[in-house]
Amino acid sequence: MSLYLVILGRQGSGKGTQCTRLVEHYGCPHVSTGDMLRAAREEGTEMGRKAGEIMDAGGLVPDEVMFGIVAERLAKPDVLKHGVLLDGFPRTAGQADELERMLAEHGERLDVAINLDVPVEEVTKRMLTRGREDDTPEAIAERLRLYEEQTAPLVEWFDGHGLLAVVDGLGEEDEVFHRLVATVDAKTRGASQGEPLPAADDDVVD
Ligand code: AMP
Repeated sequence: MSLYLVILGRQGSGKGTQCTRLVEHYGCPHVSTGDMLRAAREEGTEMGRKAGEIMDAGGLVPDEVMFGIVAERLAKPDVLKHGVLLDGFPRTAGQADELERMLAEHGERLDVAINLDVPVEEVTKRMLTRGREDDTPEAIAERLRLYEEQTAPLVEWFDGHGLLAVVDGLGEEDEVFHRLVATVDAKTRGASQGEPLPAADDDVVD
């Protein structure tokens, strides 16, 4: 049984921590396009260098580059066997269309796109208490505004395709994790053809 998940969430939503826990729980790889681009930059490849410049300028790396990276990753044996938790891709409705097409090539489709929802006021507070140098209130507000602008059409795309699940990201880490697992399990049980899933870990039963 392979799972195809997408996760969205504002900076400061706790998405990184929850991704680590989700992949541990479901046994599928975590594929973060931001991490992949940063790794390419570290390696100093031509693509990494170009992507690095775009990332520094706060832009989006061109689709043809992203599609190449993602298609290659999705064709790897670990993904084919277990599915994937996609983080950072898709970022636009166009990328979502392409993802759908790529998965169809493997006879797969997305199970659910989770929007880990933490209100702007709360993520702002979290980022300010973290106290990083580039975390001025103005810079935070601008990053969040850009995120909203980019993400709104994508959220609409997932909603329109019946794939969107909004999960409340407020509360204790464990509590949020249980909500995420419940949401994913509900979506995938509905989609599986009568084949029972293995029982969830005891610790996720509320
Ligand atoms: P992230 O770690 O997801 O915030 O990504 C860091 C940066 O990598 C972004 O600001 C973009 O410049 C680039 N990036 C990551 N994923 C994508 C994507 N799906 N499409 C275009 N650019 C991306």
